[in-house]
Amino acid sequence: MNDLADLYQEVILDHNRAPRNFRVLPPPSRQANGFNPLCGDKLTVYLELDGDTVRDVAFQGSGCAISKASASLMTEIVKGRTRAESEALYRRFHALVTGGPGDPAGLGKLLAFGGVSEFPIRVKCATLAWHTLRAALDSRQDTVSTE
Ligand code: ZN
Repeated sequence: MNDLADLYQEVILDHNRAPRNFRVLPPPSRQANGFNPLCGDKLTVYLELDGDTVRDVAFQGSGCAISKASASLMTEIVKGRTRAESEALYRRFHALVTGGPGDPAGLGKLLAFGGVSEFPIRVKCATLAWHTLRAALDSRQDTVSTE
């Protein structure tokens, strides 16, 4: 159980217990739905763009601690960033949780998810919010599935 304890670090527990930006943004904000059938994680990401910059981002949904904490931390880190910066963060985060090569610089608290790379089944929990954010950025309306 030690490995699992490491995985569920304090920062993840905190964001699961008290998710940030856990709310609905009113229209005409963009939104996209994400679903991870492997675990049952479901969430909606709301996005308000100002030109190319994320002016506000929020989410709602239910799922495991990893998916919820990841969504919470994602909303904190992409707010105020440009689309390109958000995309670069996604790629670094993806490399982190899949154990791939990549520069973890600038990931900040997202580094708490480093342990996920040892639990392949949890990768989809950790990346669901990011996939859904990208769908919202692209204005894709249908539900993105990790499968
Ligand atoms: Zn999950």
